[in-house]
Amino acid sequence: MNQQIVDLHIHSHHSRATSKDSTIEGLYYWGKIKGITVQGTGDFTHPMWFAEMQEKLEMTEEGLYRLKPEIAKEIDKTLPITVRDNQIEFVLTVEISNIYSKGGQVRKLHNCIVVPDFETASFINSKLERIGNLKADGRPILGMDSKDLLAITLESHDDSLFFPAHIWTPWFAMFGSKSGFNSIEEAFEDLAPEIKAIETGLSSDPFMNWRLNELQSRTIISNSDAHSPQKLGREATVIASNLNYLNIINAIKTNDNRLVGTIEFFPHEGKYHYDGHRSCGIRLSPEETRKVNGICPKCHNPLTVGVDYRVGEIANHPEHFKPTTHKQVEYIIPLPEILAEIEGKGVGSKTVQREYHKVISSLGNEFELLRNISLDQIREAGFVKLSEVIERLRKGDVHIEPGYDGVYGTIKLFKDDTERKSSGDQMSLL
Ligand SMILES: [Zn+2]
Ligand SMILES: [Zn+2]
Repeated sequence: MNQQIVDLHIHSHHSRATSKDSTIEGLYYWGKIKGITVQGTGDFTHPMWFAEMQEKLEMTEEGLYRLKPEIAKEIDKTLPITVRDNQIEFVLTVEISNIYSKGGQVRKLHNCIVVPDFETASFINSKLERIGNLKADGRPILGMDSKDLLAITLESHDDSLFFPAHIWTPWFAMFGSKSGFNSIEEAFEDLAPEIKAIETGLSSDPFMNWRLNELQSRTIISNSDAHSPQKLGREATVIASNLNYLNIINAIKTNDNRLVGTIEFFPHEGKYHYDGHRSCGIRLSPEETRKVNGICPKCHNPLTVGVDYRVGEIANHPEHFKPTTHKQVEYIIPLPEILAEIEGKGVGSKTVQREYHKVISSLGNEFELLRNISLDQIREAGFVKLSEVIERLRKGDVHIEPGYDGVYGTIKLFKDDTERKSSGDQMSLL
């Protein structure tokens, strides 16, 4: 059975703070380079985006949407030949920002919806346009209870899917420390059983989520939440099935064997993974924070606590707990970041972009390279140093410095510059 790489949470250029390259064509182009097979459209509540999708996409027999052949053909000509034939199909998706008050507190939750067709999207749009302005933002802000949004989704179609997005983000998520809830039940009451899946977000991985009993019975999915097409597939869900809408959606709803697992960003890279004080240079793990009673050992003020600590507040199991049965978890570092480290240059630099293009053009899409292509093959194509770091990545042999109090964490494949310079063939990549 084929493995599908699924990325359901993305945004178009109609959402705030997104790239102007997040057009249908741009998403198609980068989806192929990344090696995604099923990609969300994002933003289906936005009238202009909705109209454009109706014009440029057509439904396949398998219930997915495909870019019309005459448009696809033109973009394919601009793609490296190695990724031109990749199959990529769209599903209609949106993220809603629900802001409301419940239990005497302001709640801010982001929720994603996936629907099987334009008719269902239209139905949801007609309900939501009565509540707020759908034109202002591709990710509309609506003053409605998340539970009511779930009810509308359930009413819309049996094959629609609803999932709370990036559930640990402090300010905008179901379990967020600032404006979230302490359980799914608290947020969705009698409809809680209808929450079949949750999204880890960049700030958590499945192992952090499995510490909660109520998440062990639910599907853990990952998506990129890409605000530019180059960020597609930062995280993704792997599903073993043919390319078919119902197979994908039902694998997520039932968490059966078709759901292979997720591809994850290292959560330590987040700005609020660990606890600490930036100005005091104090970084602590949740365990260490508890030992000092949440007080900074240097300035004696309360520490800024991070996502890992927040998980511990409502978890049923200790850190490093692994449920007996669990899905596959693969950690990746995006290829541009790997190349930037090898080259000792910025991710956006000309050198890194040139190398990226060179690697994709000779070896194929990014997921194939990071996950499947043999190290010999990478070496034989002339990328000796790259084969060495991909080997490290696949083994999980990385150097982690968790983020804290607004400071991004770092994940490095080389311990330091000396190790970087001495590794691999000096001729490779140069
Ligand atoms: Zn969001
Ligand atoms: Zn301090």
